[in-house]
Amino acid sequence: MPDIFYDIETKELLDQHDPDEDAAIRSLHLSVGVSWCECHGNQVFHNTGPLAEHLLAHDRIIGFYTTHFDNTVLAWSPERPTYESYDPVTGKHVVRKPLPDSPEELKKLLDAKSFDLQIDLESRLGFRVSLASLAEASLGKGKNASGPQAVVWNHVAVALRDRWSFALMDVGDKVGAERVNALGVWFQERLEEYCAADVQLLRRIFEYGVMNRRIAYTDFKSERRVIRVQWK
Ligand SMILES: [Zn+2]
Repeated sequence: MPDIFYDIETKELLDQHDPDEDAAIRSLHLSVGVSWCECHGNQVFHNTGPLAEHLLAHDRIIGFYTTHFDNTVLAWSPERPTYESYDPVTGKHVVRKPLPDSPEELKKLLDAKSFDLQIDLESRLGFRVSLASLAEASLGKGKNASGPQAVVWNHVAVALRDRWSFALMDVGDKVGAERVNALGVWFQERLEEYCAADVQLLRRIFEYGVMNRRIAYTDFKSERRVIRVQWK
């Protein structure tokens, strides 16, 4: 299957001051993941297992910082999809687990198929550029929210839906529970829209680089710079 683009949001923010950054990334949990491919369109995931399985069904996984961050979060989540079926010929109960249990192995599978735009650019430039900087300089388009906002939106959505709507129901306030629940859904939708918008930015930046054989970013002095790329 053709290329698939993806991005995830996490329940907690990465602690930038943690001396062991890899361990910090491994302990993050997915809040939402979005993928886009020509064959399946936009897909929203709330669990890591089905997302990893969906990604691996494609020839190439395109992401931004995915080999360091997103693939690690997926691989170190203990979740693995399990399919159980009954084989009428042998009379046996069949259990199929399409993903390896070992985080290292799953990470290897994901990385082997990944093309990470951030790593590719860092190897050419010698420093990291952000998706926001590429989007602004190449497409003239900014990001519509930030990572920290996405983390807070997820906390608010979960608290409203799983805590406050039940608390209101418990005390007999059905109307209040419905209102709070609807507000939780609104935050959840914003989170998913933000993640999906980043996937589209990623896709457009990749397509821009393929078509123009160069990509623009803004440097630390906010000046627009152009770098040649050999993306295909
Ligand atoms: Zn697809």
